[in-house]
Amino acid sequence: MTDAPERLALYRRFRPQRFADVVGQDLVVATLRRAVAEGKLGHAYLLSGQRGVGKTSVARILARAANCLAPEDGEPCNRCEACRRILAGGSLDVVEIDGASNRGVDQIRRLREEVAYVPAGSRYKVYIIDEVHMLTGEAFNALLKTLEEPPPHVLFIFATTEPHKVPATVLSRCQAFELGPIPEEGIAEVLQRVAQAEGIFLEPAAADLIARRSRGALRDALVVLEQLGQGGTITPERVVELLGLPPLAQLDGFLDALLHRRADPALAVVAELSARGRDLALFVEEAAGRARDRIIAGEVALIPIAQRLIELRGELGRAFSRRLHLELAVIAHCGPPTAARQGPPPQREAPAAPPVGQSALSDPRHPGQPLASGGRPAQGWEAMLEAVLAERPAVAAFLAPAAATWADGLLTIRLPPDRAYHYEALQDPRIRGYVEATAHRFFNPLLAVEIVWEGKRERPTLEEGARVLAEALEGRVVWEADHG
Ligand SMILES: [Zn+2]
Repeated sequence: MTDAPERLALYRRFRPQRFADVVGQDLVVATLRRAVAEGKLGHAYLLSGQRGVGKTSVARILARAANCLAPEDGEPCNRCEACRRILAGGSLDVVEIDGASNRGVDQIRRLREEVAYVPAGSRYKVYIIDEVHMLTGEAFNALLKTLEEPPPHVLFIFATTEPHKVPATVLSRCQAFELGPIPEEGIAEVLQRVAQAEGIFLEPAAADLIARRSRGALRDALVVLEQLGQGGTITPERVVELLGLPPLAQLDGFLDALLHRRADPALAVVAELSARGRDLALFVEEAAGRARDRIIAGEVALIPIAQRLIELRGELGRAFSRRLHLELAVIAHCGPPTAARQGPPPQREAPAAPPVGQSALSDPRHPGQPLASGGRPAQGWEAMLEAVLAERPAVAAFLAPAAATWADGLLTIRLPPDRAYHYEALQDPRIRGYVEATAHRFFNPLLAVEIVWEGKRERPTLEEGARVLAEALEGRVVWEADHG
């Protein structure tokens, strides 16, 4: 089946025509229907929500419902002359303005002149302004003048993905409705209904997968359905292929590795994804989704892993290096990879062979090439951690929870209060020596390294004891002056 060029896209053909057909926006739709039915329409509505959740559809249904000659319980009949004219796009009384392409004040001025005239044959002159936040400040001011004294026959319906960019003066004159993301089950149902109507065979698992990946945007889901619908039965494998999602076997392999705390296969998956340029955040998200499916199927042991993956998904958005962050998280959970456990610690000049599955990691950045003082410490620290991870993953696991600051020739590595063990481990002279040597490579050969634990010790050290005593005696610890 090939589509004729003039054939409408699926999402246009299956656009809801009545409030009752709108999926996943029950509260908004019920409120608007009641307002129409009771004849209590306001003069300005603002519909906000992410793309693809039905803002334009709701706006158009409301435009018809307001003008319908025979509304049915707040619904447009879609059969009367007014409804049909609007549906055909031939009504002069329903004007759609795209805020993104009509940013100029001129369009709004023209609108201001037009609103003075009574509708050409309908009850309301309806202005639908899409992406209203894109209007210029001047255009907003012009619009505000109309909103302050709206003619009784005018109905404004604004739609926006970014309501916070709409001036408060405009917002305060609107009844605002937020359209949430459409629930996955709702999207999957629509997909099945549309597929059936179109003669497309859609496997339920494939429908679920499309629904999950469309993130609450029904329109996106229908676009995917349309693209896949021309190639025969839609299987989960075809969805995976089209959307570049990680295959199920890979997700399961990763989850099983985490479940049995085996770092090597988990790191191998990360290395493979990186080598193929895959989005690691998307992978972690998919892994969390897959874990959820397995938990629902009875694998409760995956619950803590799923929770950690969800946290990790958020962390990856802020990470300097997603790969590094993910690898450290794997090691923090599983322990170091086997090669690191068995082999002797590699020497600085001759790093040992990288652990299995980590070949792409064995590229410590610019060994012997310290960052110039004044370089960005975050990058220096990240590069250093990456090198440590490649050379001595166990040490990287100790350093992973630390925050590092670098100033005036001093690198301070701070371990949070709940990481006393990590701190103790880093005090081992060989480990400490290695950390210092590596810091010299990545920051400055003359750098001083300080490792600090931010928790409270059981017993105060001698110096702390002296200070506590001095404070108690209202005195001063004189040697503190030397430390600045
Ligand atoms: Zn009608």
